[in-house]
Amino acid sequence: MDNKKIWLSSPHMGKNEYKYVTEAFDLNWIAPVGPHLNDFEKNLSEISDGKHIAALSSGTSAIHLALILLEVECGDEVLCSTFTFSASANPIVYQGASPVFVDSEMDTWNMCPNSLELAIQDRIENGKKPKAIILVHLYGMPAKMKEIIEISEKYNIPIIEDAAEGLGSTYFGKPLGCLTKFGIYSFNGNKIITTSGGGALISSDEEKIQKAKFLASQARDNAPHYEHSHIGFNYRLSNVSAAIGLGQLEVLQNRVNKRREIFEFYKKELTEIKEISFVEEMDGFYSNRWLTTILISEDSRVNREDLRLYLAKDNIEARPLWKPMHQQPIFENCLSFGGENSEYLFKYGLCLPSGSNMTDDDLNRIVTKIKEAFEN
Ligand SMILES: *Cc1c(COP(=O)(O)O)cnc(C)c1O
Repeated sequence: MDNKKIWLSSPHMGKNEYKYVTEAFDLNWIAPVGPHLNDFEKNLSEISDGKHIAALSSGTSAIHLALILLEVECGDEVLCSTFTFSASANPIVYQGASPVFVDSEMDTWNMCPNSLELAIQDRIENGKKPKAIILVHLYGMPAKMKEIIEISEKYNIPIIEDAAEGLGSTYFGKPLGCLTKFGIYSFNGNKIITTSGGGALISSDEEKIQKAKFLASQARDNAPHYEHSHIGFNYRLSNVSAAIGLGQLEVLQNRVNKRREIFEFYKKELTEIKEISFVEEMDGFYSNRWLTTILISEDSRVNREDLRLYLAKDNIEARPLWKPMHQQPIFENCLSFGGENSEYLFKYGLCLPSGSNMTDDDLNRIVTKIKEAFEN
């Protein structure tokens, strides 16, 4: 394999990240507190509909804190998209609560409003009204928010929007993560922008965000000594990481534009292959196209694994879509509502390399290989 590795999605620094990190060093703010952290929260708030922000060590910790702020406790149930990464569901278990998984619909691949309502009605009938809904905007594609918010309001169950993959996407002009009570972002290395590792909790409720910052910095009460009346966490983002984030926020829209171009390129180049299809945006839905995803038809001679392995032979990384949570060994005893759609997506779907730092040569190499796979 002489060919250079093409990653699914690798970090892509802009011009100023290094400058801001150097500044953090020069000022000696090498701590989970400092001016870059404050600026990062301020700048993130500006693109998040003016919401309040707590910058944290990961998207996972942001979901965990949101659950705590919603008073999810041992024995509670929390609804969660089944078609997602495990980090959406794990914090439910950190709280001693149980996930109840909800299937996808096939227009956006996100939580199905009908399955959601069936799940809620079932749990209420069983005397276990769910405490919260963790709704994921997968691969940057907005979920059907109007329908889902209506259900959330009808049954009075708050939503946490997991927009880990959805920074820079919008729903009828509003940023994802900002449409409900709580939202979260992730700045992990593979996301559309990165702080190497990091995340954020978003809310219009300033008090809740203050509380999140308090809990995220070991829950120190206001006293000269160390005084604690709550269990705390070490979940704050480092000022050094925030410095990287400041540079990355400056280029976020460029990254979105590039990823959308990559999606359009694949779509145009691969139209001739009838076995491949793409998810389209519905009216008012704007996706950051974090990853370009394809479905391969059931009757295709070349199946998802054939194609993935063919690309891997050429040092090109492609990955199956997320394996649904209700099919994961660790969650096999959890309740789940529906499941056929997410199972179908896992079986027939593939993520193509989508990094905004890919060159035209990289992209041409990938589509040439995909075409070859279907010709042979
Ligand atoms: C990445 C990701 C997370 C977790 O974010 P971290 O910052 O890695 O903890 C949560 N949910 C989804 C859908 C993700 O893709």
